[in-house]
Amino acid sequence: MTLSAPAAVSPEPPADSGPRVLDGVAIAAGIKSEVALEVAALAERGIRPGLAVILVGHVPASEIYVRSKVKTCGELGIYSEMLTPPDTITTEGMLELVAQLNVRDDIDGILIQLPLPKHVDTRRLLEAVNPDKDVDGFHPVNAGRLQSGQPGLAPCTPAGIMEILRRSNLPVSGQSAVVVGRSDIVGKPAAMMLLNASATVTICHSKTRDLPVVTRGADILVAAIGRAGFVTADMVKPGAVLIDVGINRVTDEAEVKAFFGDDPARAATFAKRGSVVVGDIHPAAFSISSAYTPVPGGVGALTIAMLMQNTVTAAKLRRGIAPGKV
Ligand code: NAP
Repeated sequence: MTLSAPAAVSPEPPADSGPRVLDGVAIAAGIKSEVALEVAALAERGIRPGLAVILVGHVPASEIYVRSKVKTCGELGIYSEMLTPPDTITTEGMLELVAQLNVRDDIDGILIQLPLPKHVDTRRLLEAVNPDKDVDGFHPVNAGRLQSGQPGLAPCTPAGIMEILRRSNLPVSGQSAVVVGRSDIVGKPAAMMLLNASATVTICHSKTRDLPVVTRGADILVAAIGRAGFVTADMVKPGAVLIDVGINRVTDEAEVKAFFGDDPARAATFAKRGSVVVGDIHPAAFSISSAYTPVPGGVGALTIAMLMQNTVTAAKLRRGIAPGKV
């Protein structure tokens, strides 16, 4: 990772050039450059932010995510430590690990990679993490801080959504924002962040009546549902900004064709991996939007960058340094 000036916001294309692709990879690279500069400035004061990641057992997808988080820490100058208890660990054993990390001065952030084995009480564990080290932003204290607009650690994926909007110069204040999905890790905090940014927010879920009528009212539509291509073009207002959080693996070739036609890139991915990742928004809907986050390469690309940012923020807040200042 080279230290460079923060990347500029992505330029707006001419009005007639079709929808803007909100490039999460480029935006994430900009954030990581800024984090590296903050880490370097903290180092001059003798501070090195530290992240501990607890990875239980052998879940291949989790192992990939954790490796990627640890690698990014190394690139940005953040100390990282991986704890890998076996999947026979009990809730009590996990609570003990968390308690040890809570009191360590060299650890600013604690991340428990989910999902945990079924016999471990996930909620109890997440609540055992010191809220000031809760870099995933899942602790109820941080949910409360987000709601009351106090400085704290906010969940990474919704924080990434807000960075995409901000760095792409897309207005939020006064906009009608509809969030489909009300999970604690994406939908609810995304809605709260949009509200804090003065959007008029509607939250939808599986019991929402006349969903297409509601989504068609959205200037900004956030889809965090977990169903491939669920939001179709008829559910979208022409010119809306589409934020697709969904990551769904489609393994059926006919389904891939139905989503992407004869797109050679997707066909090549399918031939190589036997699956293609599809968001919660149908690809055909993007063409009527003014801007959209692609899948992959959109919101998903921001999550690790925001985790790094949260680790640095935690290091600063614990030492009474205002976020954003070094
Ligand atoms: P989740 O906990 O399963 O929540 C899904 C939400 O969608 C629920 O609130 C559910 O409503 C709602 N929903 C389900 N079916 C619906 C329907 N037919 N109409 C309207 N709403 C419906 O999922 P999540 O953890 O929020 O994740 C959502 C998606 O984002 C997944 O694809 C996930 O893989 C992806 N994700 C991506 C990132 C990233 O980019 N880094 C991070 C996290 C998640 P009810 O509450 O009524 O059940």
